[in-house]
Order: sequence, then C-alpha cells, then structure tokens
Amino acid sequence: MSVGTVVIVGGGQAACQAAVSLRQEGYAGRIVMIGDEAVLPYQRPPLSKAYLAGQLAVERLFLRPPAFYEQQKIEVQLGRTASRIDVIGRQVELDNGERIDFDQLVLATGGRPRKLACPGAEHSRLFYLRDVRDVAAIQAQLKPGARIALVGGGYIGLEIAAVARKLGLDVTVLEAAPSLLARVTCPQVANFYQREHEAHGVKIRCGVMVNGIAGDESHPAVLTADGQRIEADFIVAGIGLLPNVELAMAAGLVCDNGIIVDDECRTSVPGVYAAGDCAQHPSAVYHTRLRLESVPNAIEQGKTTAAAICGKSKPYRQVPWFWSDQYDIKLQTAGLNRGYDEVVIRGAPESRSFAAWYLRDGRLLAVDAINRPAEFTLAKSWIAEGLHIPSERLSDETIAVKSLAAAA
Ligand code: FAD
Ligand code: NAP
Repeated sequence: MSVGTVVIVGGGQAACQAAVSLRQEGYAGRIVMIGDEAVLPYQRPPLSKAYLAGQLAVERLFLRPPAFYEQQKIEVQLGRTASRIDVIGRQVELDNGERIDFDQLVLATGGRPRKLACPGAEHSRLFYLRDVRDVAAIQAQLKPGARIALVGGGYIGLEIAAVARKLGLDVTVLEAAPSLLARVTCPQVANFYQREHEAHGVKIRCGVMVNGIAGDESHPAVLTADGQRIEADFIVAGIGLLPNVELAMAAGLVCDNGIIVDDECRTSVPGVYAAGDCAQHPSAVYHTRLRLESVPNAIEQGKTTAAAICGKSKPYRQVPWFWSDQYDIKLQTAGLNRGYDEVVIRGAPESRSFAAWYLRDGRLLAVDAINRPAEFTLAKSWIAEGLHIPSERLSDETIAVKSLAAAA
C-alpha cells in the first residue's frame, strides 16, 4: 500500500472523514491534519440545534474521540493555519513558519459566514454562527425575554429562531427574499414553515433588505431599506456561506465558486484534492456542476478522496440530501429542486406530515419530506434512477408510498 505523506488542510467533517477513510483504505503513510480551530473535528449541525440550546457538552460533538487519532497515527495540529501551498516544491507552510512536505494534499477548508456589508456592521452585538466559539458568544445573550433579530430566513436563521423561542426570547426574523427558505423550497413548504414559526410566536418579515445597524452598544437596532427600525438586544446574521478558496487560488488551483474538482475530488493540480463545502464538483445526477454545503456531501467526498489517493476509484455520484430540525418538525430533503416545473403536495400541511415532490418534464428532481422519513428514503433512490412518476399518483394517498414508482 502507498506510503509517503498526506497533508489535510482543514479540521472539519470532510478533513476528518478523509483521514479516517485513508486508514480504512489501507494507507500506511504519514497523515497530518492541520486545523485552525482549537478543538478536534466536530459536528456542526448541533450548533444551531441541541448544542446551542445548551443540551450537549462539546465532547459529544467530536467526530472521533481523542484516542482515535493516536491509535490511527493521524497527526492533528490544532490551532494552526495553513498559510501557503507550494505545489511545485510539494510543501504546506503554516502560520508559525513550519513547512510540511507532502506527497498528496487534501484541501477541506470549508467556508465562512457571509458578513453584512452595511453601515454599523461592526456592532459588537452582531453575531454569526459557524463554530463553537460563535455558539459561546451567542449563548451569553440567550436570556429569556431578550430580543433577538435574526437576519436571514435560511437554515441558520430558522433553526436559531426555534431554539430561541424555546428558551423564551422575543424573536424577529428578517428575510430579504419574498419567502423563507426561498432558494431551497417551494412556496407551499415556505408557507408551512412561516405558519409554524408564527404559531410559536416568531415575528417574520420577508422581502426586507437590511441596510444598516444602529443603536448603542447594548441595544442595537436593525434598519431596513423600506424604513423599518427593529430594536433588539442582539442580532445574528445567517446570510449564506463563502467557500474558503483563497489558499487554493494563491497556489494556482482553478477555482470558481469553490475549488474545481472532478468526480474523484482531484483538483487541477495532480496530487491535490478538495472535499466538502469548499469543493465544486460535477453532478452525475443533475448533469451540472455543484458546490454543496452539507454533512453528507462532506462525508462522501472525504471517502472518495481517500479512495483516489489509495488508487481505488470510488467516484462521487451521490444524490444530495439535507435535513433541518425546527421545533418537533424534521425536514428531510432529497435532491435539488432547481429548475422544477411542477410541485405535487402529498398529504396535508395542516397535519404537519406531508411531502413536496418536485418534477421537471415529469422526472423526479427532489422531495421535501416533512415528518415523513419513508418518502425521503424512497425518493432518494428514485431520484438517482431518474424516475418519472405521474403527478396524479404522487398526490393520491390511497397508493402506498412504496408502490408509487411501481407503474412509473
Ligand atoms: P467545515 O466543517 O467548515 O471544516 C473546515 C475546517 O477547516 C474549519 O474548521 C476551518 O476553520 C478550517 N480551515 C479553513 N481554512 C484553513 C486553513 N487554511 N488552515 C487550517 N484550517 C483551516 N449540514 C447538514 O447536512 N445538516 C445540518 O443540519 C447542518 N446544520 C448546520 C448547522 C450549522 C450551525 C452550520 C454552521 C452548518 C450546518 N450544516 C449542516 C453544514 C455542515 O456542517 C457543513 O456542510 C460541513 O461541516 C462541511 O464540512 P467541511 O469539512 O467541508 O467544512
Ligand atoms: P442560507 O441557507 O443561504 O440562507 C441565507 C438567507 O439569508 C437567504 O435566504 C438569503 O436570501 C438571506 N439573505 C441574504 N442577505 C440578506 C440580507 N442582507 N438581509 C436579509 N436576508 C438576507 O445560509 P445560512 O442559513 O446562513 O446557512 C449558512 C451555512 O450553514 C450553509 O452552509 C448552510 O447549509 C449551513 N447550515 C445548514 C443547516 C441545515 O442543513 N439544516 C442548518 C444551519 C446551517 P437570498 O437567497 O436572497 O440571498
């Protein structure tokens, strides 16, 4: 089995998976993981859910226990930033000046929150949520009765809203698009989430563009382009993610909204791979290029990368999938709905158990399953198969879910 050194830049989900899978694939060489956070690789999803609510200790987030890295001889350098890559000399330079030789390099640098760029955006009570330090800063503000203004009605904004309401805060969500979760769902699902949050006491304003932060140090106010002023005690903005590609770009790797990779996570430079939120890959399912921001994507690309390094081709051909937990509602999304021309609702949203099936020219593109795990699981494989399912069958609940594709 190959020997040498694999350096992994990044200490998140994709980085950890690549290291784990390298050993599982039989890689016997040196593995060095460089992570700029002070903690071992951990799961981020609970940061806007149970961990934010104070229900989990940080150790429960760890992807692998500390002893694992020692047992597997994975050298983890925490609190260190890779600041330069020399692709000709095959070295990574760290922020302390140390240089590490590599034979293969994996970039799993993830992304960072997009920041508000309006006047007042440096306010000390404006927060973002990406890592455990951010959670600590936000938790210090999570006091019953405190007013939180959430900028962005995407996953971050809505998951924080649910936690904050449970903790008794006064919550306002401000979303620029005409509806919540506008980029990822249809109006029927967006309306369902708006009604649920409003029923829990969240104030929601869509179609409002935030254009300033005012107020004094302890009482910020959000200003909107249509002249509203929302008084708050603190603000959290969840307005999207920017992939961390600067290191790769400086090294001459081809980037375009992510580091460009093929279906085996190979970048434009031989021996250099990229995986996770930072990587833009070809999708065999949708015949386009995608950069996904999800745990399943980071895991599968970590596995693909490790296999490629070990000379075992395991192309990345997954149907994308996502989930979100808000209150007692589990949303599971299989596939991407981009370009859909028809949406079929199966079940009644009022029952809090239904699914939105997205089709294009009759072909199944994606499904949003709300408290319907069976439909999510089946849809995932049907999307991969490119099935066409007549819309009248999808909406007919007298047909069992597993039989939906029978006559397709
Ligand atoms: P990351 O997890 O971001 O890891 C990258 C790491 O590399 C970071 O620690 C970064 O600081 C470090 N790094 C970057 N540059 C350097 C450098 N030069 N040197 C050293 N280290 C560097 N996904 C889901 O599927 N379901 C969910 O419910 C869900 N919930 C989420 C909730 C929150 C609050 C957040 C923030 C994300 C959530 N996600 C969820 C998204 C998911 O966590 C990400 O898609 C996943 O973590 C991506 O993994 P990654 O390894 O690509 O990147
Ligand atoms: P997001 O899902 O892209 O949502 C951001 C929302 O904010 C978009 O609807 C966006 O509208 C809106 N917005 C942008 N600028 C705005 C402004 N100035 N004022 C008001 N609204 C504005 O991003 P996110 O919620 O910040 O999530 C960040 C990352 O965390 C992503 O990688 C996400 O996948 C991950 N995450 C995932 C989960 C999950 O999977 N359950 C949970 C939490 C976090 P436009 O579309 O019009 O720009």
